[in-house]
Amino acid sequence: MSDSPKTCTVKRHVMVDAHITVTPPPYVGRYARTPEEMMSALQAWAEEFGAFLRDHRSQDANIFDVEADYKDLCSACKREFLAYVWTEDGKDHCSDCGALVEEEVARVQ
Ligand SMILES: [Zn+2]
Repeated sequence: MSDSPKTCTVKRHVMVDAHITVTPPPYVGRYARTPEEMMSALQAWAEEFGAFLRDHRSQDANIFDVEADYKDLCSACKREFLAYVWTEDGKDHCSDCGALVEEEVARVQ
């Protein structure tokens, strides 16, 4: 078994997904008093809006924001990198797979 620890690099600000955000008119959910009531109001509006789009060729202005999601990724396990400082060596490791961040290796040498 090797004594050298598994290492990784942190790939910063990697686009991992994209999504569209549709904002309903401000009156939707106006009377909601709980998150559950807001969820129900938004679901009802989304169904109604979907039906409207299927039935019309509307020229109304609708706002659809296409947004990218970014995360820092661990090169070793390809999952989101969250730094975890191990108490044994006091260095940053990937909280998921435990790989030592190579920047830490370079800093020590
Ligand atoms: Zn990892």
